[in-house]
Amino acid sequence: MKKLLGHDAVVMVTRTLAGAVGVVLLLIGLAILIMPEVVSTMFLSLSTGGAGINSLRADLGALFLGTAVFALLGAFSRFRWLLLVPTTFLSLVVGGRVISVLLDPFPSRTAGTLVVEILFVLVLGLAVLAHALSGKGKQRPQAVSVIGSRRFLIATGVVIVLLGGLFVMRPAISSRLWTDGVAGRMQQSAAIDELPDGLHVGLAGTGAPMPDSQRVGISTFVIAGEHQFIVDCGPGSTLSSELMQLPLEETTAVLLTHFHSDHIADLDELMLKIWTYGARTEPTLVMGPVGVETVVEGYNQAFTFDTSYRIAHHGDAVAPASGAGGIARVIDGFGEDETVVIFDQDGVRVTAFLVSHKPVEPALGFRFDYKGRSVVLSGDTLPDETLMAQSQGVDILVHDAMNPDMLNAMTRASEASGEAVAGTVATDIQTYHAFAEETARIARDANVRHLVLNQILPPLPFSILHPAFLGDARRIYDGPITLSRDGMLFSLPADSDEIDARWLLY
Ligand SMILES: [Zn+2]
Ligand SMILES: [Zn+2]
Repeated sequence: MKKLLGHDAVVMVTRTLAGAVGVVLLLIGLAILIMPEVVSTMFLSLSTGGAGINSLRADLGALFLGTAVFALLGAFSRFRWLLLVPTTFLSLVVGGRVISVLLDPFPSRTAGTLVVEILFVLVLGLAVLAHALSGKGKQRPQAVSVIGSRRFLIATGVVIVLLGGLFVMRPAISSRLWTDGVAGRMQQSAAIDELPDGLHVGLAGTGAPMPDSQRVGISTFVIAGEHQFIVDCGPGSTLSSELMQLPLEETTAVLLTHFHSDHIADLDELMLKIWTYGARTEPTLVMGPVGVETVVEGYNQAFTFDTSYRIAHHGDAVAPASGAGGIARVIDGFGEDETVVIFDQDGVRVTAFLVSHKPVEPALGFRFDYKGRSVVLSGDTLPDETLMAQSQGVDILVHDAMNPDMLNAMTRASEASGEAVAGTVATDIQTYHAFAEETARIARDANVRHLVLNQILPPLPFSILHPAFLGDARRIYDGPITLSRDGMLFSLPADSDEIDARWLLY
């Protein structure tokens, strides 16, 4: 046996296999740097929501590239003992995954990954073993002899005992974690409370009706000085606003651009929370185009029972009867320029304007002005002249955007798989949304300072697809373009020309 393992051929084979593992790790590491969400969702079952992409590229990229470097150095240089480094790292990865299998729900998706990792550890381990038993391995470097030392074994034993102890004590640790202090800290709404005086735009929902793992239904909140507006409330967006720690109860008005379901489907939930979080005594003001009375009345009716339960259960301290539901106010009286000022108070001016979203008529966009700062929200529209006029020189234009080539590919794929209806929808929606490149032209011609694209169609789960989605947009418009994701907040401090951007969802 010893003779066989000592054979050069065995060393050669195991070493080549270890090198192959190094190459695979290197490719994965590079792929993580280029398209982190693709690798992590397809192969590693990692969540890629919001700003997590930063850690994916940095932490995960470093793990793979670092492991790859030592595997390749170990395999292809004369310092074969370096293979101990990737072997150790991958053993720890396997250990962590096994702990996850024991502790976490539904870990089965990672079974395939675990098998591959175990295989890699075996290959690398065999290469180390073959080398150790070979003639050259006998003269191991001093650093390696640390592994066999008594101190190393004791330290390893201590770590294993500690881990075991923590594992056994999990219930005790868990029950001591939830203290009043922790509970209090989790309820604090730090980020939004500390915003400076100015105009702030939060993207609570940036998706379209097609399911998108990165984006819930469309909703944008605007904080202007003392006032707070929520523009549209697509499915899931109320929870998203809360996760961004927006104080819903301080809402001045909910504004609706039009009544497509993806803009209003959360109105009931939103009105309920505005009411009960602030024990408000007046119904939520909901402003929208003609027809808004029907929408609000319908939701009020649908929530008749819920409202009665809340009042009976909580009473005036939480749910004063007079504050339930919503009260509608129609936005009309548009001038020749197709605009109307719907709010003008405390230095905050909100202008509604007509946009092109046929057959939806009227459909609105909104412009917000406060202390020298300005934002336009397009609502759903084709390229529109009124919107262009309203967007002249604004700090931020938030515009809906789609990519026709990508949608056409979806149509073809749907038709090929016999899903004619889905294919027709992917084609139909193109007649009432703007193309990404068209929004860039609007931003350029209107001298917009920062273009934000939302209601992204088709869904874009991976950021590697962003350049394809934008097409020539970046060549057309030389200002910054942000492809929105849920949780982004843009801040425009009063009387300045700063535009700060950050994430409030992770
Ligand atoms: Zn629409
Ligand atoms: Zn829409």
